[in-house]
Amino acid sequence: MKTALIGAGVAGAACVSVLRSRGADFCVFEKSRGPGGRLSTRRVSGVLPQGDLHYDHGAPAFTWSPELSAQLAAELKHETVRQLNPDAWVASPSMPQLVKDLLGGCPLSAQVEIDTLEGSTGQWYLKEKSKSDGNPPVLHGPFSAVVLTAPAPQTRALLRNVECSWKQKLDAVSYHPCWAVMASFAGAPAEIRETSNIFSSLVSQNSKPGRTLPEHVQCWVGHAHPEWSRAHLEAEAAVIQEKLLAELVRVLGLTSVQPLHAAVHRWRYSTVANPLHCTALADPVQRLFFAGDACLGTGVAGAVESGLEVGRMLI
Ligand SMILES: Cc1cc2nc3c(=O)[nH]c(=O)nc-3n(C[C@H](O)[C@H](O)[C@H](O)COP(=O)(O)OP(=O)(O)OC[C@H]3O[C@@H](n4cnc5c(N)ncnc54)[C@H](O)[C@@H]3O)c2cc1C
Repeated sequence: MKTALIGAGVAGAACVSVLRSRGADFCVFEKSRGPGGRLSTRRVSGVLPQGDLHYDHGAPAFTWSPELSAQLAAELKHETVRQLNPDAWVASPSMPQLVKDLLGGCPLSAQVEIDTLEGSTGQWYLKEKSKSDGNPPVLHGPFSAVVLTAPAPQTRALLRNVECSWKQKLDAVSYHPCWAVMASFAGAPAEIRETSNIFSSLVSQNSKPGRTLPEHVQCWVGHAHPEWSRAHLEAEAAVIQEKLLAELVRVLGLTSVQPLHAAVHRWRYSTVANPLHCTALADPVQRLFFAGDACLGTGVAGAVESGLEVGRMLI
């Protein structure tokens, strides 16, 4: 019988890379339109006739190691993981490419949001979230094993109707929130001119390898500090956009320049504040598994390790 994976972020994709290479039978369910999760790039069309704008509004970069490269040599295309500076790597030409390489073109049930797990040992069903069309929610299954990779609070909610040895451990995990601002300017400087107390990271998308952006346009992404983001978490997007844009314009020394495009995104779960300090969680009797950055708390690299570990456990 098949294994079901919930989530096509980098942890789920790393798990898939192991299952694929061993010929296992599996299905992947993802609530968004495509793979990537928090390794995400937003493409904005229609602003400029010369081409689309691109913003890495999730993880701006990640740590990487020769060991991970060696382990994933058969999966990753030559130019996918590229070094930005001595401590940071990015995926090219966009952040989700790392996830796409690991998925290796396997079929993905996208725009399918799972609401709960139903059933019992070795006979699991995934119930989709109800839609407004009046039809009963779709039930997928049965599955012999389920791998959950959504952030810990969301995974906890998915497991509300089932018993599982590790589900209470998820309560100890917490995440930093993050407000991200995306803005493009014509003729803006390529470097920051002032320091900021609001942004923890401010990255010109033009400085990243493999990006194709319209000429003479600078696309910037700013991530607000966790404390600032927490203090403003429930504020309206329009209010946040005004504040973060004003700060971005100030640090770039652009007081009179209007952006060609601007937007904000609120991440309730960005990086992990309190991890589980283990590579993955497994209930071998129920055949329920958890992988993701919540396990090791080391971002993308830790999420990959976690997904690989669950793949090996299943095989
Ligand atoms: C603003 C920001 C900055 C960051 N900075 C860094 C950094 O500098 N360095 C670093 O290493 N990491 C950073 N990260 C963290 C990094 O992005 C994550 O650690 C990593 O992407 C987590 O991967 P994952 O697969 O564990 O989870 P996710 O990427 O969250 O994947 C989970 C997937 O599950 C899907 N899903 C959730 N619920 C359901 C459901 N009910 N049904 C179906 N699908 C579902 C989601 O849509 C998602 O695609 C940052 C993240 C953000 C948002």
